[in-house]
Parts: sequence; structure tokens; C-alpha cells
Amino acid sequence: MIRRTLQQISVMGLTSIPTNDQKKIKIDGVSIDTRTLCKGNLYIPIVGDRFNGHDFVALAIEKGAAAVLWNRDEPNPPLGKIPVLMVKDTLLSLQSLAREYRSQLQATVIGITGSNGKTSTKDMLADCLAMQFKTQKTFGNLNNHLGVPLTLLSLEEDTEMAVVEMGMSGLGEIELLSRMAQPDIAVITNIGEAHLGDLGSTRNIIQAKLEILSGLKDNGTLIYNGDHVLLAGAVQSLKDDHAKINFGWEPMNDYHPISAEMDRNGSTFSIAQYPSLAFTVPLAGKHQILNALAVVAASVAAGMSRNAIRNGLANARITNMRNEIIEGDRFILINDTYKSNPSSAVAALDTLSLWPVDNQKIAVLGDMQDLGEQAVSMHHHVGSSIDGEKLDYLFTFGPLSLHTADSARRLMSPERVFNYEDKPNMIAHIQSVLKTDAVVLVKGSRAMKLEEVVSSLIEGH
Ligand code: ATP
Ligand code: MG
Repeated sequence: MIRRTLQQISVMGLTSIPTNDQKKIKIDGVSIDTRTLCKGNLYIPIVGDRFNGHDFVALAIEKGAAAVLWNRDEPNPPLGKIPVLMVKDTLLSLQSLAREYRSQLQATVIGITGSNGKTSTKDMLADCLAMQFKTQKTFGNLNNHLGVPLTLLSLEEDTEMAVVEMGMSGLGEIELLSRMAQPDIAVITNIGEAHLGDLGSTRNIIQAKLEILSGLKDNGTLIYNGDHVLLAGAVQSLKDDHAKINFGWEPMNDYHPISAEMDRNGSTFSIAQYPSLAFTVPLAGKHQILNALAVVAASVAAGMSRNAIRNGLANARITNMRNEIIEGDRFILINDTYKSNPSSAVAALDTLSLWPVDNQKIAVLGDMQDLGEQAVSMHHHVGSSIDGEKLDYLFTFGPLSLHTADSARRLMSPERVFNYEDKPNMIAHIQSVLKTDAVVLVKGSRAMKLEEVVSSLIEGH
């Protein structure tokens, strides 16, 4: 983590100049949250919609903060207790400090953006790189304008590889994050089809993801999903000098699978570059094979040996609830309950059809939220993406999922499709049809809390 004197901090974070007796005071790390603040941290109060971090400065001092920043506009700074550095805007200071600190580090930074699969790719890649390098990564999903600077400020001076997840909800955000992280390698996992049919907004999403180029080092490499025709077209028309590598299912991609299969141990694939080497990731998901291809491409670009990549992937552990394979006594569960949107729901359904035919296959799909006007049509879209011949039962949960069920009934026998609004009843029904050796996929938006279905099925009640 960042360890600097207040004199150094004042330049990096554009703060007021510390007094002579404060200049040599050192801070160890940065915190914006007094609940997790450690002794010696620099406390940076952030003004949010619901809370104003300045209200917690007294608590930060009590918990041992070495110094604090303070927005000039806020009244009554706690002068005299510990050093208080005045700034114009604490958020901008946090970001400036992170950018300056990053530019002082030797680490190779790999920035990851995309509509889906950022966290999965980040976790897998960090596990791979850790086979050969001192590696750090974004903690959990802290991928926004606060999480990225905090991740950068948590890097140690001797860290060799840093894997940084970058999320966005609009134009301009990835540019800010990328200029802060200054990646050596930038990865775009994919472009979601959340706005199917709306070409204008797909172009905007692509443009937003390509903002990652704005901070990419001059000799850096862009690794992107080449299956996405519009993204690939946009990359090809770029006039920059960065190296470009693509991955995807299609054979024209630099990294593409020449074989792929799935079983209870996870997903196994091989690639043309190393045809005799089988890569396995302990995750169920066709799309996780794509993420793994991005990991292979990024690991090679970072200088890893192929055997280390293979071992790293085999032992990768990703943050829970994303295509996690859970082996019950009698059946296998794919826990994909972290979130859902149309492209990841379709990808998850595709995964089921990759399992051997003799397994009973059950999908449990909850509502996908935040789809605005497209909510109804997108639920129909997911329902019409099922492979009716391979799916034995479809259970849908929530009012919007009625539409998923409606469309699915046209593709599979309607008496095997059910919509529920009540979780315990749905769970009881699933249990009554479950056969030995079933594969059960459970997926829905965060608010649907379908992990409760997973735990009930595993515990058998
Ligand atoms: P967030 O925007 O919440 O940070 P994320 O981009 O980090 O999400 P993950 O957390 O890795 O994505 O995965 C979220 C969901 O997307 C999971 O349900 C996962 O199964 C699915 N998913 C992962 N990778 C892909 C992919 N390449 N294509 C489609 N869906 C994917
Ligand atoms: Mg994420």
C-alpha cells in the first residue's frame, strides 16, 4: 500500500502544503471508510448521496488515522488534533493520489473492462499470474471511481502484476479509470446485448469500453473479444499504434478453442497455439471458456510460460456465485446467482446444453432487473433462447419471468415450464422432480436472491 510522507502526499494529491513539523509525518495506506480504517491510514472523507465522510473524521482520528484530507467548503475542520490537509475536492484528490502513485510503481497493470465477465476474468488472471509473479488484484467487485483508486493505492511497491477491474455506467468513466491505472495490458471481455436491436446504444457501449485505450501505455497491448463484429470493426478502424490481440470462438481470432467440453470438473479446452495442451477451469460456462481465453492471451502478453498458465487456470478460484459448480450428494448445481442480464442468461443456458446428454437438466431463472422499457421483450428473448430438446424443466421466478416462461413454452413441452412468485413452493416443486445426476442451473438478478434456492437444494429442505 502507499507509504509516503505528507510532503509527498501534498504534491501527489494536490492538497494544501503541510506545516514544517507535519511534512515528515508518514501515512501507511488510505481509507475512505472508518469501519475498515487502520491505524496510520490517511483518511479521505468522500461526500456521497447519503453520507458525508466529513461527519466521520472525528471517528477516523479516534481510530488512529495519521492525517485527514478536508474539503475547503466544509465548515469546522478539526484543526489541532492531527494534520488536516485542505483540498478543493476530496474525490479528485483521492483519484489524483492514485494516478501519481501508480505512475511511480514498476508493476505491470492489466486493466479489465467489458459488459460481463470482468470479475471472473480478473480472478482467473490473478490466479494465473500469481504462479510466476507477485500479484495483486481488485478486491471483490470494487471497480468504480472509488474502487479503482483504492485498488491502486493498495498496491505494494514490489508488486509485479496488478489486475484492475474497471466498471462503468456511462461514457467517460472508463477513460477516467484508465488514465488513473495506466494499464500495460487492456482487456475487453465482451459487449453485452442488453440493448438488443438498438445499434446506437451498442456503439456507445463499444465507444465507452474502448476508452480503456486512453490510459493504455504507448507500448501496451489491447486484448479484445473478436467475436463481437461491431467491436472488432471498431478496433480495426482505430488509428493507434497499440498491439492488438483478439480471442473468441470464431477461428479468425488469435486465441480460439479448437476443442471444448464440460463436466463436473469444469470446462476443458485447447487452443491452436498449444494443441496438445488441455486447459481446464473449474467453472461451468461456455462464456467462462471465453474469459479463460482472454486470461491465456493476457498471461502470454505478460510473459508467462504456458505450463504456469495451465496450472494457474486449473487452480483458479473466482469470487462466489459466478458459474460455481457445487456438487450435491445426488446432483450438480451451477450457482450463477450473482447477477443476470440477457447476454449472461443466454450464455448460462448455452452452458447447460454443453453437458452430457444423459444428465437431467433443470434451469431456474429469476427476473432480470434494470432493463427499463426492454424488460418484457428481453425476458421473451431469454425464453426463446432455451434449447427445448435438451432442457427437462424450466422454473422461472418473479413477475417479469412470466414472459420468459411464455416464450419457453413454445420450445419445450409446456407442462414442464413453471413460473413462481413464492420461493419455498418453487423449491419444493424442484425437489419433487429432481433425479439423481441432475444438473441444475440457478441464475437471476441480485435482488431475486436465488442463492437461497441454491442453499435449500443443497441442504435438501
Ligand atoms: P459487474 O458488472 O457486476 O462487475 P462482471 O463484468 O464483473 O460484473 P462477473 O461478475 O464475472 O461479471 O460475471 C457476472 C455474470 O456474467 C455471471 O453470471 C457470469 O456467469 C456471467 N458472465 C461471465 N463472463 C461472461 C461472458 N464472457 N459473457 C457472458 N456472460 C458472462
Ligand atoms: Mg465485477
